[in-house]
Amino acid sequence: MARAEGSRQNGVADRISREQRRWLMSRVRSKDTKPEMRVRSYLHQRGYRYRLHVEGMPGKPDIVLPRYRTVIFVNGCFWHRHEGCRRASTPKTNTAFWERKFRANVSRDERTQISLQCEGWTVLVVWECQTVGSQSLADTLGVVLPTRIPAKDITTPRLDALQHSSDRDAIR
Ligand SMILES: [Zn+2]
Repeated sequence: MARAEGSRQNGVADRISREQRRWLMSRVRSKDTKPEMRVRSYLHQRGYRYRLHVEGMPGKPDIVLPRYRTVIFVNGCFWHRHEGCRRASTPKTNTAFWERKFRANVSRDERTQISLQCEGWTVLVVWECQTVGSQSLADTLGVVLPTRIPAKDITTPRLDALQHSSDRDAIR
């Protein structure tokens, strides 16, 4: 039912300036963003097993922890409207256009969360601004995840984790 994201782009391009379009395209949700990489690295270091960008799940979650039936969305503060965050500013021109766009994003996020929760998933949202600074991420995810994970899974690196980080000091 959900249309591919690309199908929306023509209408957008017609209504905004070239400069705004360039900026917009740089903001469109994409895979492997820096904030997302920070979350993945945080989880990886703690031995969590996860899958990425799982097709066929509502909203195609960025990170899926199948064993804990938990998904994590790593959301850009601007694009997904982090409430009260200074990164979630509204452009001064074409304000109506942006507000419409933002509302659509927020309600899509809400629908996605509800669908996932109806399927029994726990939905976690990590905001871009919460991935800056190691303590910030620990504060965000550390509160939720350790209570869900058996201690042995946190302290025991997996074989594939060891292989991926063999150039560091992970092998002990
Ligand atoms: Zn934020």
